[in-house]
Amino acid sequence: MARDPKYDILFEPMRIGPVTAKNRFYQVPHCNGGGYRDPSAAAEHRRVKAQGGWGTIFTEQVEMHHTSEITPFIELRLWDDRDIPMLAKMAKGIKEYDALAGIELTYSGINGPNLYTKEVPLAPSAGPILTYTSDPVSARAMDKDDIKDLLRWYRNAARRSKEAGFDIICLYGAHGFGIIQHFLSRVTNHRTDEYGGSLENRSRLLKELVETIKDEVGDTMAVTVRLSLTELVGGEHGFSNAELRDTIEMHSELPDLWDLAHGTWEDCSGPSRFKEEAAQQELVTGIKALTPKPIVGVGRFTSPDVMVKQIKSGTLDLIGAARPSIADPFIPNKIDEGRIEDIRECIGCNICITGDMTMSISRCTQNPSFMEEWRKGWHPENYRRKGDTEAVLIVGAGPAGLEATRALGERGYQVALAEASTSLGGRVSKERLLPGLSAWGRVADYREGQIQTMTNVDVYLDSELTADQVLEFGFEQVGIATGSSWRRDGVARFHQHPFELDPSLPLFTPDDIMNGQTPSGHVVLFDDDHYYMGGVMAELLIQKGCSVTLVTPANLVSEWANNTLEQGYIQKKLIEMDVQIKVAKALSSVQADHVMLECTYSGREEKVETDAVVMVTSRLGNDQLWQDLKARKQEWGDAGVKSIRCFGDAESPAPIAWATYAGRRFAEDMDSEDIGDALPFRREIAELAID
Ligand code: ADP
Ligand code: SF4
Repeated sequence: MARDPKYDILFEPMRIGPVTAKNRFYQVPHCNGGGYRDPSAAAEHRRVKAQGGWGTIFTEQVEMHHTSEITPFIELRLWDDRDIPMLAKMAKGIKEYDALAGIELTYSGINGPNLYTKEVPLAPSAGPILTYTSDPVSARAMDKDDIKDLLRWYRNAARRSKEAGFDIICLYGAHGFGIIQHFLSRVTNHRTDEYGGSLENRSRLLKELVETIKDEVGDTMAVTVRLSLTELVGGEHGFSNAELRDTIEMHSELPDLWDLAHGTWEDCSGPSRFKEEAAQQELVTGIKALTPKPIVGVGRFTSPDVMVKQIKSGTLDLIGAARPSIADPFIPNKIDEGRIEDIRECIGCNICITGDMTMSISRCTQNPSFMEEWRKGWHPENYRRKGDTEAVLIVGAGPAGLEATRALGERGYQVALAEASTSLGGRVSKERLLPGLSAWGRVADYREGQIQTMTNVDVYLDSELTADQVLEFGFEQVGIATGSSWRRDGVARFHQHPFELDPSLPLFTPDDIMNGQTPSGHVVLFDDDHYYMGGVMAELLIQKGCSVTLVTPANLVSEWANNTLEQGYIQKKLIEMDVQIKVAKALSSVQADHVMLECTYSGREEKVETDAVVMVTSRLGNDQLWQDLKARKQEWGDAGVKSIRCFGDAESPAPIAWATYAGRRFAEDMDSEDIGDALPFRREIAELAID
């Protein structure tokens, strides 16, 4: 199919200083949890995006000097010439498909604790290091010699970036993570010399840095600056949107492009639960008029129509995207080929960010091949052709079963998908109706849309299968993806064994509530799950007229949501909704008309009267069908069944991203070579130094 002409504007080239982007799709820098530990995985992810049509593709943040690093978080490094090859690999991959390769040079300043290098951190003004981990470390104030050193370090990093083959250098000064912002902002710059005070002074370092780098790389590379639209911290001292506009006006022709991020990372990568697409619109509008240079901005853009509007309205020149490019690395090609319905839209869950926050390796709920392109050879769009097996039965159409069905269908297998209920989506079909989670429905919608077009996939709704039926049907391969259920007995982390529950007090699980049963009056919600469900349930119960006391053994509400950058939003919302919050408390017993709480530190008890209890504790796999089939393994052969596997939440409950990954893995493993005890993915191992 041909491209709809209304999207032509997205494919117009754009000059960025001495280089030209082939289109308006601009992948802004983003982390991936791999960084210097997994450079080939990070590089291959970028190469695949270039193949998918992105015109400009950036690295994640690259620590450009050893005096500033953000251990324990894992990003890329350019500390000396020995780091050039791993960056060159990424640049080469990006350029294989004519995209521009960008590198984001970062000096973390007040944000870098230097836990690994043990160097003393440097910042515009002295102060404690401002990281997520509140490390008890301070930066010392830079003197003029330090500033000269910094300029030289940037010059060296620019030379190395050029040698590595990059086309664009981005100077990071956004999200509170880069020293340019620390100089620009009166929150972190208390200097009284020519680098502090007036905006002209505070932007002096920015000016000198761009000039130094331009001097080093000449007309061979573009130099861009990434700033936050507003700082959103520090109250009246914060770097405001008005000051940003003044900075751009003052230095309008300094960089080759202005890259506009927003606030802290939490603000910029706002989850869909709290932020709409194009949420920064108001803060960006009008900036383009202040500079002759192009501007790029982000806003979780997944809709081509919204992208076109951004450009036609004169708001942005280039469409910046991190998460949408992760969820679907082929968005540009799909728009170009008139395949809008094939776009796999980001759901804004921020699971991708957890890879960085937990220093593991990133996952994406929508795109299970994210960071597995090199490790496992998975591709977001291309699949190995089928092997010897002809027909596969998948039981359960939740995220795991749907993804397995879709990927097996892509591989060319004959697939039957049996689902007990009358709709596809499993947990997602219910959770999408909860407050703030409607965008999560895209997990089911995308897969349902894809499966509908496959002639080799048959879907059977209202078909709750038993072991007898599965054996009777006799499919060669069977996948059991029957999901999970929330426990009623309160067992999770605090209580690892059932505890005293008086059955006369009404008790609900999230499943009960999602199935339409609602408590009334005052409800005690016990959250020992620590991710989104506790907070979402509290919100829903308030909406339904209950008063809610949320009890959690953690020190924060929805503590794990720190990893998705949502925790602050969740706690704020619950406080504003008048949810009574009791942290560091656990339910010690449930009586007929009250519960007893226990302080997790002191063990002190507290009585709370209540009309009902909601247990958001943990889930158990619905694996009865799997257990029944396993018990009858000797019958499989006669039934024509070669293998049966259980996967997804039924095997081990986890967030939705784990289920789509499990589904993809089931499909990828089909008819694959038996590798025995070998590691099922590639990895890189640090080379031993020759002593
Ligand atoms: P996952 O996240 O692992 O995909 P879900 O709980 O979202 O798990 O989905 C599991 C799906 O399996 C649900 O839609 C459920 O109705 C369905 N299911 C459970 N048991 C059976 C069964 N015996 N036969 C068919 N479908 C089943
Ligand atoms: Fe989007 Fe979630 Fe994927 Fe991140 S993990 S790219 S937020 S769908």
